[in-house]
Amino acid sequence: MSPAHRSLNLVFLGPPASGKGTQAKVLSERYEIPHVATGLMLRSEVERSTALGSQVKESIDRGALVPDELIRGLILQRLLREDCARGFLLDGYPRSIEQAGILDDMLAELGRAIERVILLRVPDDEIIRRQRERGQRRPDEQDAVVTERLRTYREKESELRELYQRRGLLVEVDGRQSQEMVTEAVMHGVGAAVSA
Ligand code: AMP
Repeated sequence: MSPAHRSLNLVFLGPPASGKGTQAKVLSERYEIPHVATGLMLRSEVERSTALGSQVKESIDRGALVPDELIRGLILQRLLREDCARGFLLDGYPRSIEQAGILDDMLAELGRAIERVILLRVPDDEIIRRQRERGQRRPDEQDAVVTERLRTYREKESELRELYQRRGLLVEVDGRQSQEMVTEAVMHGVGAAVSA
């Protein structure tokens, strides 16, 4: 990111096992902005048995979404931290049109806005194949849960895609390419926002 650039606020969308987490990590290093992943944050709350953790454990184990209000608080606290001043890469949020609205309001209050939304495209059969090949599964990655999480994701994906496309923010990338090519394609798509 050029020193003159004030901030780079990115949203990363993509199905589970699309390589989104890996890409988000690489991109957060390249752009020097924190990787804010709601799934990781929530699982850490569960592992540490915090009050929030015990509230969300059951939903996470089932692959269901946790209530909007809980995620809102979690994200707001995270975005207020100093390391988000120059931007952030949101991974796993928003996951619905309602959450997109909540995020817009939250960012407006902070005097900020989304600059680019990256959508990693990977078809269902490829996702299911990748999940099966993963040697060690998380407890929430049994077949039925994988299918349920994918179904929940797809249900919301099209409306989010439409929303961000309408706003001219969407960068779509084919997630079936090699890891390096995906990174390159994302950076190319985000380039305009970085140098703006
Ligand atoms: P992920 O690692 O992003 O797939 O998230 C793991 C689990 O955390 C999901 O299956 C949900 O139960 C929960 N979760 C993560 N992000 C959100 C979100 N934005 N809204 C609701 N639930 C979420």
